[in-house]
Amino acid sequence: MSRGTCPQCGFAKPERYSLCWQCHVRELQAAAYTEGFAQGFEKGKAEAPQLAREALDLKRVRQLLQLSHPDRHDNSRAATEATRWLLRQRDLLESSST
Ligand SMILES: [Zn+2]
Repeated sequence: MSRGTCPQCGFAKPERYSLCWQCHVRELQAAAYTEGFAQGFEKGKAEAPQLAREALDLKRVRQLLQLSHPDRHDNSRAATEATRWLLRQRDLLESSST
């Protein structure tokens, strides 16, 4: 079997292959990782707007504001922070829907 040199690592490789076995496997693994990452990225990108709409519509935010009002929770810090956040979401939703 005639031998060549792997252009990636410089070690010996069979003449008829372009890379040594280790570099060939590494390339396949990198391609599979890249493809899997790209598929996951595209899937998330496609689903994100729908998830955001389902998670926070104006009706839901108003319900949560009623439930989280600090008056109902002894003016707790958590209720105050949650209400502040919800008010911000309400403002954003109201301004984006007009
Ligand atoms: Zn190699």
